[in-house]
Amino acid sequence: MKQTRILIIGAGGQLGAELAQGLWAVYGTDHVVAADIKNVNGILQQGPFEIFDVLDRNKLSEILVKHRITQIYHLAAVLSATGEQDPQRAWKINMDSLINVLEAARALKIEKVYWPSSIAVFGKDTPKVETPQSTIMSPSTVYGISKLAGELWCSYYFNRFGVDIRSLRYPGLIGYKTQPGGGTTDYAVEIFHKALQERKYECYLSEHTTLPMMYMSDAVRATIELMEASSEKIKIRTGYNIGALSVSPDLLAKSIRKHVPEFEISYKPDFREAIAQNWPQSIDDSAARTDWGWQHAFGIESMTADMLKNLRLLQQQQ
Ligand code: NAD
Repeated sequence: MKQTRILIIGAGGQLGAELAQGLWAVYGTDHVVAADIKNVNGILQQGPFEIFDVLDRNKLSEILVKHRITQIYHLAAVLSATGEQDPQRAWKINMDSLINVLEAARALKIEKVYWPSSIAVFGKDTPKVETPQSTIMSPSTVYGISKLAGELWCSYYFNRFGVDIRSLRYPGLIGYKTQPGGGTTDYAVEIFHKALQERKYECYLSEHTTLPMMYMSDAVRATIELMEASSEKIKIRTGYNIGALSVSPDLLAKSIRKHVPEFEISYKPDFREAIAQNWPQSIDDSAARTDWGWQHAFGIESMTADMLKNLRLLQQQQ
């Protein structure tokens, strides 16, 4: 049987560095090649690493052949908040990189491809509560437009060329090992660091702006479970809705205060508030639960306790 050999593109990011660890645990460090456009220190030093720009199509093919890659996890992207600073650049990186990966997967007969979508595919006309799998999509950011177009390209490559590509519409991801990379939900990571370091945090979203979120260990497990599911279980080839918890800055602050009683939060909404206002508050992920058995493990309170416990441990080690 052909051995699984994985390439993670964008492995130096918030999700990639943690997903690499999850994939090492399943497949072994030698079978997972981490890649990023920048050199990544620390967390990714165990396994093989390649520095390259996924926009370089020839280099991508060269790396796939060199490492005999059978699965690609393509995570590199410009996220929602950063994308608004330079929309043309965000569109180019997000779309051209996906097309490069899909074309390479088709040409080199890569067994499986993973590409993340986002709740940013939804917009102001989408039902906000328990947002359905199939509904009105009217993304308002260049990031959301690129994710929606990307989902359609994934579905096209599956239907037209048989590329086995799978995708999840992640909500905001919260983890203690890595820093967020310029998304609208970054506050939900920063707030924990500030709670421990300064006992106060000024939030760029409003008090009651509620968004769907997920603890990173759930996101990593969901991703690997989706990729390990047999092909006939994957009935949606655009992107699966996936949910875990919904939280506002106020709710998160209250949860943190149970562990850090003196923690104070203040609010100074900026342009990210308008982005968040167009996104869902909660997600109907029943298709993921039915099709391939998705179940989340962490709710708000268990996530807060685990985040603070691990951040304190990291602080002690420094
Ligand atoms: P991130 O910004 O933290 O990491 C992206 C990584 O890609 C970075 O290390 C960056 O150096 C690398 N990269 C950028 N351009 C590259 C290029 N041209 N070639 C090679 N590498 C390049 O992002 P993340 O938060 O880890 O997100 C990973 C994926 O998950 C993205 O596709 C994102 O849209 C999606 N997602 C993330 C969240 C979240 O909350 N973090 C939510 C929804 C979807």
